[in-house]
Amino acid sequence: MASKLLELNNVEVVYNDFILVLKGVSIEIEKGSIVTLLGPNGAGKTTTLKSISGLIKPERGEVTRGTIVYEGKRIENRDPEENARDGIIQVMEGRRIFEELTVEENLRAGSYISGNTDFDMVYNYFPNLREKRNLRGGYLSGGEQQMLAIGRALLAKPKLLLLDEPSLGLAPIVVKEIFEIIKRINREENVTILLVEQNAKLALEIADYGYIMENGRIVMDGEAEKLRQNEDVREFYMGMT
Ligand code: ATP
Repeated sequence: MASKLLELNNVEVVYNDFILVLKGVSIEIEKGSIVTLLGPNGAGKTTTLKSISGLIKPERGEVTRGTIVYEGKRIENRDPEENARDGIIQVMEGRRIFEELTVEENLRAGSYISGNTDFDMVYNYFPNLREKRNLRGGYLSGGEQQMLAIGRALLAKPKLLLLDEPSLGLAPIVVKEIFEIIKRINREENVTILLVEQNAKLALEIADYGYIMENGRIVMDGEAEKLRQNEDVREFYMGMT
């Protein structure tokens, strides 16, 4: 029997004390699965990831309401570092690597919390990074920087990996390669993945289940295979008719 790793129940997020960005979002993620969260710009996808990882900050007038249950425990409004120690690791949009540090120094930053320094495991998935391990991050291509960001997250020993638009700004062939590796990581490292994407076509190819978000609400969800066949999804999110 599959068990639930994460459950969001009626989650609302308020920014600046009054702007309601998430308007009652409920999502379930089974252990070992890849779930994708799709939707247009500004729908609230990044905010959903932040509510899970703990990056919604009450001291900035940002509030999460509703419940978020991870491994059977309530975690809403918990500290991001505590979440990271428990295996909730977020890879931010825009490949935030340290450009002045070498590839290996960047990876070391991922080891900080977990103590895991198995760089070979990362190089196994991303052989380019092994070749360039002494090169500064800023000299890598966009695709390699995304690989580095994912590799660094892997060293933090994720149980739940939150990926925010890994395809952003990358050539289709590079995106395909990265998505294949994401699938391998899911299977071989037994990491559950929540993948936020605008590239619905590719995301639904590797995901088990998908949610579609518009204007702070989930408007559709289902098995990835079913969503791929759905006429509306094909027309509005996959550019196919
Ligand atoms: P994108 O793909 O553009 O990142 P998204 O679906 O991830 O889109 P969010 O980034 O979650 O959407 O943003 C949802 C809404 O909240 C947008 O209207 C955005 O302008 C607004 N928003 C995001 N962050 C803040 C903030 N810190 N303060 C106020 N409003 C915000």
